[in-house]
Amino acid sequence: MDFTQSDELREIRRVARDFAEKEIRPHVMEWDEKQVFPRDILARLGELGFMGILIPAEYGGSGLGYMEYITIVEELSRVDGSVGISVAAHNSLCTGHIFTFGTEDQKRRFAVPLAKGEKIGAWSLTEPEAGSDAGGTQTTARLDGDQWVLNGQKTFTTHGTYGDICVAMAMTNKQAGHHGISAFIVEKGTPGFTAGKKENKLGLRASDTSTVIFDDCRIPKDNLLGQAGHGFVDALTILDGGRISIAALALGMAQGAYESALKYSQQRKQFGKTISAFQGIQFKLADMATDIDCARLLTHRAAWMKDQGMKTTLESSMAKLHASEVAVRVANECVQIHGGYGYIKDYPAEKFYRDVKLCTIGEGTSEIQRLVIARELLK
Ligand SMILES: Cc1cc2nc3c(=O)[nH]c(=O)nc-3n(C[C@H](O)[C@H](O)[C@H](O)COP(=O)(O)OP(=O)(O)OC[C@H]3O[C@@H](n4cnc5c(N)ncnc54)[C@H](O)[C@@H]3O)c2cc1C
Repeated sequence: MDFTQSDELREIRRVARDFAEKEIRPHVMEWDEKQVFPRDILARLGELGFMGILIPAEYGGSGLGYMEYITIVEELSRVDGSVGISVAAHNSLCTGHIFTFGTEDQKRRFAVPLAKGEKIGAWSLTEPEAGSDAGGTQTTARLDGDQWVLNGQKTFTTHGTYGDICVAMAMTNKQAGHHGISAFIVEKGTPGFTAGKKENKLGLRASDTSTVIFDDCRIPKDNLLGQAGHGFVDALTILDGGRISIAALALGMAQGAYESALKYSQQRKQFGKTISAFQGIQFKLADMATDIDCARLLTHRAAWMKDQGMKTTLESSMAKLHASEVAVRVANECVQIHGGYGYIKDYPAEKFYRDVKLCTIGEGTSEIQRLVIARELLK
């Protein structure tokens, strides 16, 4: 096993960290308080090649692999999880789905502007009545001449309001159950396609999470993505990759929380000493660092396997489950180490505490990850 990082990977980490520190950190609290979606930041990340990380250069992307992708998501999330989740949803969910299952024409028309960061991607699977049980999709699509007509409602779509291109799953053959769900590409501005309620969230408040409504929304027949009836199965494949990026999102936020706790513990004095001199605090820091390293190893293993073209259902879920639960524990201890100052907005601790919780929910809850892991183990 080789744990060294290539010069290229180190350079990518440096560029991502530099950008996050200079361009994101100064605005994090303002965006969070005002729930400002930093659209211009995504455009600039596009200029760095971070909006088409996994897409080959001939399609406008950076042609990098999963190791580079998770490094970028981790570094952005270390400073602001809201930007991290945006980059993750855009890259691996929407753009990844179109690039993996789209026709050549769809790749050219949709994946290229997404990969360049000229357009923002959304991916709509979850519905009000179909969350963990996403196979229970109720949104419908029926063929009418040379158009598909979509009706229904999606919920919790990242970039539901700001997204220019949305990949949406809809039922095309109810009798076939999961195998009756198909994926579609819907462009912003299509009549009958609107963003509904923008969610007022606990954390990741600068990310855009909205309801998406289809009301007799007509799209060209050619906007069917992948084969009819394969939308749900293809979505699960996409989630195998997406879950690695949620692990990276969790890892980045855990790292940020840990660093903030470490720094604070070396500054804050009580009983005539810095609190880092107390074994009670040292043990917390030791547990946090060990937990984070363990999550990092699982996340890197899943990414490495993905780069080798291996199936990662088990490893992606393990990484996502563990990293997200570590992030929640680490953010909790980060607040604790800050004492009362962890509870107020002058320090980043309270924001990490709020933000990390999404990781145990999005792209499959911790309970669903355990179901996936157990299913793989019992095969
Ligand atoms: C900020 C944010 C961004 C999101 N972005 C997107 C996005 O871009 N696209 C998208 O499609 N979705 C998105 N989601 C939706 C997310 O994937 C779902 O919220 C998640 O899958 C859980 O679905 P649910 O909220 O309906 O919860 P439910 O499915 O209603 O679950 C409620 C509880 O029941 C548990 N539960 C359910 N079934 C079982 C079971 N069989 N065994 C044990 N426990 C079970 C769950 O683990 C959970 O604890 C986002 C959500 C959030 C909060």
